[in-house]
Amino acid sequence: MRKRLVAGNWKMNTDLNDGFKLLKEILHNVREPELKDCDVHIYAPFTHLKIFHNSLNGSGITLGAQNCHHKEGGAYTGEVSAQMLTSVPVESVLVGHSERRAYCGETNEILAEKVTTALANGLNVIYCYGETLEERESDQHFDVVKSQIEEGTAHLTEEQWAKVTLAYEPVWAIGTGKTASAEQAQEIHAYSRKVLEGISSASVAQNTRILYGGSVKPNNAGELFSMEDIDGGLIGGAALNAESFAGIITA
Ligand code: PEP
Repeated sequence: MRKRLVAGNWKMNTDLNDGFKLLKEILHNVREPELKDCDVHIYAPFTHLKIFHNSLNGSGITLGAQNCHHKEGGAYTGEVSAQMLTSVPVESVLVGHSERRAYCGETNEILAEKVTTALANGLNVIYCYGETLEERESDQHFDVVKSQIEEGTAHLTEEQWAKVTLAYEPVWAIGTGKTASAEQAQEIHAYSRKVLEGISSASVAQNTRILYGGSVKPNNAGELFSMEDIDGGLIGGAALNAESFAGIITA
């Protein structure tokens, strides 16, 4: 049985004051009994992590970072290592978000290294993948999804998979208000499990959580999350409003 997970990706939004206010509102809105059925993660900007760690202590909500570098450390000005995140401490990190693939040139090869480095430093990983509109319209979406999963994660052992969650995020649905239909998302999630079975095992395919991301809101979350292979959501815009985020967790 896979436990549900709702993860909020704040991206490059909120300064420390506004972020702290939002965190307090989220803590006020998210009800404790719901955390028994659903894990909740917040992926905050680096500048917020230490103070958020102190505030989330004992809340049941997990703190994560939106990125880390694929190398262990050294002369990479401006970068943040997995070990630095562990020292905050944060528990989890997003890897392979489409914005980092598109704007920061992160390839599947770099992401494979990043997953390894994050896991080696004791972090959990949410590995994101998904096709562009052009790729879907030219019927390449299954191939794209397969290669992103395979090239980024095929090297993982069963033990490592226990610390990894996948997030299918069609690029055309991120921040656009255009959500994949529950059937479209389910189709890719079921296919992703087949890919997992091919690169690892039937039990990894069955036990790994796969989130859907792309314009999830309280009014569409219920239908998406009711699909057999969808285990929750990675939430962007709606995670910046405490009531919407709580509404999605309730769904
Ligand atoms: C995201 O950035 O991961 C995301 C899913 O954003 P949004 O919910 O705003 O589409």
